[in-house]
Amino acid sequence: MGDAPDRHTIAGRLAEVRRRVAAAAVTAGRDPADVRILLATKTQPAELVRAALAADRDARAADPALAPVLVGENRVQELVAKGPELAGLAGLHLIGPLQSNKVNAAVRWASCIESVATRELAERLSARTTDALDVYVQVNVSGEATKHGVAPDDAVALARSVAALPRLRVAGLMTVGARSDDPGAVRAGYALLRSLRDEIVAAGTQTATELSMGMSGDLELAIAEGATLVRVGSAVFGARPT
Ligand SMILES: *Cc1c(COP(=O)(O)O)cnc(C)c1O
Repeated sequence: MGDAPDRHTIAGRLAEVRRRVAAAAVTAGRDPADVRILLATKTQPAELVRAALAADRDARAADPALAPVLVGENRVQELVAKGPELAGLAGLHLIGPLQSNKVNAAVRWASCIESVATRELAERLSARTTDALDVYVQVNVSGEATKHGVAPDDAVALARSVAALPRLRVAGLMTVGARSDDPGAVRAGYALLRSLRDEIVAAGTQTATELSMGMSGDLELAIAEGATLVRVGSAVFGARPT
């Protein structure tokens, strides 16, 4: 692994991400407060995540209008490992695929599951959670075979059927954008997620307002298309070891 960034470096990078988010929102004619930041912390040790959360606390002390960042883990194993150290410090989301045998562990630590792509998983979550649980329906907007998510054509029906399950609250939609050098293609995928969200809300699932889309490399495109939550990893923590 390369040199781990120190707290000061992380604070500077987080501030830079906040600047990018605010600038993109203003360019899009949106209120920067309507776009939250989720730290994508896969492979990062809890200590570094805590450093980022401390930097976020300092930034919010200086500017109380800022919303706290969220933390997103891809793997239940990491959620369980870091959960005890992070749970009191930030809202934890699961942003990676969830296997049905890990549902109990996931709902123990995550307040939101962003990767619901099947009715079967939603039923399990509904059965295993005792409290109300926020979920996002993950949509594969690019159609890339390697990507998790329901097909866009099936997203509205899935969202409606998930919203009808006890204890689950469909809070919005999530996608991982196309892997493409063509900004137009990436942006078209985000526009598609937004139109699906609008359709789902209009069809009666009024809680489904959030759009979790955009990462370190393309958050401006996502914010231009209405992202309410951007998921940022490498822009704060540096490149992940490969
Ligand atoms: C890793 C990851 C991110 C963040 O990606 P970066 O390019 O490092 O910002 C966002 N969403 C998901 C689902 C991820 O796995």
